[in-house]
Amino acid sequence: MTLRLSKSKFVAGTQCHKLLWWKVHDPDAEELQPDKVLQDRFDQGAQVGELARGRFPGGTLIDLPYYATDERIRLTQQAIKAGSPAIFEASFVADNTYVAVDILAREHDAFRLIEVKSSSSQKDEHILDAAVQVHVVKQSGIDVRAAEIMHLSKEFRHPDEGDLFARSDVTESAFGLLHTIPGEIKAQLAMLSGPLPDAPIGMHCHEPRACPFMERCWPQSRDHIMRLYNVGPKRGCDYMTTGVHTIPDIPPTQKLPDAAKRQIRAMKEQRIIVEAGLKKALEPFSGRLGFLDFETISRAVPVWPGMAPWEQAAAQFSYHEAQPDGSYTHAAFLAEGSHDARPELAKAMIAATAGAERVVTYTAFEKTRIRGLQKCVPALETELKQLEGKLIDLHPIMRDYVYHPDFLGSFSLKYVLTPMVPELTYSDLVIVDGLVASVEIARLLFVAQKISPEERDRVRQDLLNYCERDTWAMVKLLERLRELAN
Ligand code: SF4
Repeated sequence: MTLRLSKSKFVAGTQCHKLLWWKVHDPDAEELQPDKVLQDRFDQGAQVGELARGRFPGGTLIDLPYYATDERIRLTQQAIKAGSPAIFEASFVADNTYVAVDILAREHDAFRLIEVKSSSSQKDEHILDAAVQVHVVKQSGIDVRAAEIMHLSKEFRHPDEGDLFARSDVTESAFGLLHTIPGEIKAQLAMLSGPLPDAPIGMHCHEPRACPFMERCWPQSRDHIMRLYNVGPKRGCDYMTTGVHTIPDIPPTQKLPDAAKRQIRAMKEQRIIVEAGLKKALEPFSGRLGFLDFETISRAVPVWPGMAPWEQAAAQFSYHEAQPDGSYTHAAFLAEGSHDARPELAKAMIAATAGAERVVTYTAFEKTRIRGLQKCVPALETELKQLEGKLIDLHPIMRDYVYHPDFLGSFSLKYVLTPMVPELTYSDLVIVDGLVASVEIARLLFVAQKISPEERDRVRQDLLNYCERDTWAMVKLLERLRELAN
């Protein structure tokens, strides 16, 4: 069988040969199947690509499935000969590498290669992407003299403030890489014809993209250095290069944040550590308390007035409030229909929280969203500012006063809940992740016509359950912290 690379395979191969080997020889691997979040990312990329094509009137789209390679190449040549001003998905093979160029635009007597990205900035990794395409197109006899990344503009605001796209010329940097491409293609093809290569783990597993095969390659032990609080890929890999692979390997002289020191103590003593100041730190969590959590949508092509590409906008909230008799009331909101939900959400949230003296959140995420709402719902600015003034964050209390060995280095609600409140988990829910929730809300709002009424009702209920669990988790977490403080 003749092995053939593609642009995305080539780019994966420059990240790691082992990753490429699995992509080619184990394409059905579970890790490679797009989940809901990745599929949504692809769909949004396709939408951005279509809009970008609209900027090149009279262009020809090579509108055939990817497997019809020969026919795609033939139609591309035909469009070039016919003098088409731009060819979309222009397809070429050279050096056993197949590329479909997003936009090949005619410029004077030559061509400009344009790679369309749905990100809102041009990134270093895009250069290699462009370079391998320039190589293949040039090898196919096409005079390509310029390369560019067309990406979303951070300055754009829905519906029509500024330009949705920004264009970055990368001719110099992409052409500067051309001499490296043939050697790398050769090395990748040679590697692919052999057995699974050895590849050390390291920073390349995280950059430019998190590798889907981490669980195959990285140790999953609870005390691995990557589980140290706030370590991040860069510092974690630095530790590993100095021979520190597990948390107990860390030299006692190492400077660490207090939470990491507490983690090490808790792991050594195999027990929960509670700092003496917890009781005092909890004092502001008094009076009539509410508990608030948002879910948001984030779209490449913004959908509501004033939104920038990928901006997060609140579309759902859950709110629990403690009552004088010790019980809790619950209020919730979930956007319905494609219109701007933020005014209705703000109104419902202000009504629900009116009686609370303090409103508990977990992290500053809610505060940022409420500030965003002040701008886009100016009629309620005063009330939203009052609500902002009531917010109080439980996350720093957890981080600064408590550590349980089962937190595994994270203070996110999903990690701390069950160790702190064993009777409460997320495992009985269908949606257990904010990114999935975000994608599901967007699907309900903007592609509702493709969803049956039964599925819509089911997904709405899953979303309501998930958001409600987050605020109930905060209620129980605070109860548990009070017990520990006493
Ligand atoms: S986890 Fe790292 S070593 Fe393993 S395939 Fe991915 S990039 Fe390569």
